[in-house]
Amino acid sequence: MNVLVVGGAGYIGSHMVRQLHAAGHRVTVLDNLSTGFPEAVTAGNLVVGDMADQELVKSVLTENSIDAVMHFAACALVGESVASPAKYYRNNVLATIELLDAMRAVEVKRIVFSSSCATYGIPDVVPISEATPQNPVNPYGFTKLVIERALEDYAKAYGFGFAALRYFNAAGASPLGGIGEDHDPESHLIPLVLQVALGQRKHISIFGTDWPTPDSTCVRDYIHVDDLSSAHLAAVERIELGKGLKVNLGTGNGFSVKQIIETCREVTGHEIPAIESDRRPGDPPELVADASLAKEVLGWEPKYLTPKPIIETAWKWHQSNPTGYAKTDTGPPASTKYLVEAYLSKKQTAVPKQSEITR
Ligand code: UDP
Repeated sequence: MNVLVVGGAGYIGSHMVRQLHAAGHRVTVLDNLSTGFPEAVTAGNLVVGDMADQELVKSVLTENSIDAVMHFAACALVGESVASPAKYYRNNVLATIELLDAMRAVEVKRIVFSSSCATYGIPDVVPISEATPQNPVNPYGFTKLVIERALEDYAKAYGFGFAALRYFNAAGASPLGGIGEDHDPESHLIPLVLQVALGQRKHISIFGTDWPTPDSTCVRDYIHVDDLSSAHLAAVERIELGKGLKVNLGTGNGFSVKQIIETCREVTGHEIPAIESDRRPGDPPELVADASLAKEVLGWEPKYLTPKPIIETAWKWHQSNPTGYAKTDTGPPASTKYLVEAYLSKKQTAVPKQSEITR
């Protein structure tokens, strides 16, 4: 298959690219490098540009004879979405609709969409199945739900086929090395704890120790990025035009903040001081997937079922890349520079030629 990975220079997208390539698919990446890194793209061609640029997207889709799109390009921080909803509705909703319409214009109608357990809000019952009502409690969750609904409508009206994969907590890094999690600022639990182990932070703050959970800290379902990627592979092969799959991606196992910190101590051999702090606004106490539908409809099973092996892969990445990807002043490789500048200055008048970084 020829697959376009939108957001393929980001954390989850870059793992997807590696796996698609290994499975024998031909990969093209479209990424505006707003949060992604060119070094993270370890296979295929990288086109630097924005998914909201319909002319560019149409040209990428047709020039590469794309069969299916995997869409990872999104802003994904709950707190930021509350403070800056416009950014979220613009990037996650408006730009995605532009992407879908570019696909529609050139008759590429298969898409795998990164949705989220944030679409469920604060569920009454855990584990969360796909039948759990979707009542998001923050703009991030709403933007994901809006696109799920748009995909249903595009399937009915325009014959799109889609898979909306509702991720629980993505974690870990490729055991092959070279790619991993690098956010600025970092807000996720596991990388923050590992930064304490590396001596880059003094302590980890535990957000809330008065939750109605077994050890009074929040419980999450941590799923390895390679397991997320293998579910996408299974999903893209099962997409049927005119239909949609909506599936949770988690392990079905919940672990508390304290358990994660303790496991990080075990994996790293470092003390990792932790301090108790206030609850973080908007955090649900417990988010754990009922992951049975994914097994049934995708024939998919996660390989990493507990945090320890997940954290081991993350630790390997953080130890080898303590400051993340090399952040040089020279910017992206010379071959992509024209596109970046054209995009940033918005002076693009014609569809630019794709930059090609072939690896
Ligand atoms: N968390 C924490 N301290 C931190 C960062 C996160 O206690 O410095 C908690 C957070 O409240 C949540 C869990 O760790 O219960 C996972 O948070 P993360 O931001 O990694 O993912 P989220 O569940 O928000 O998507």
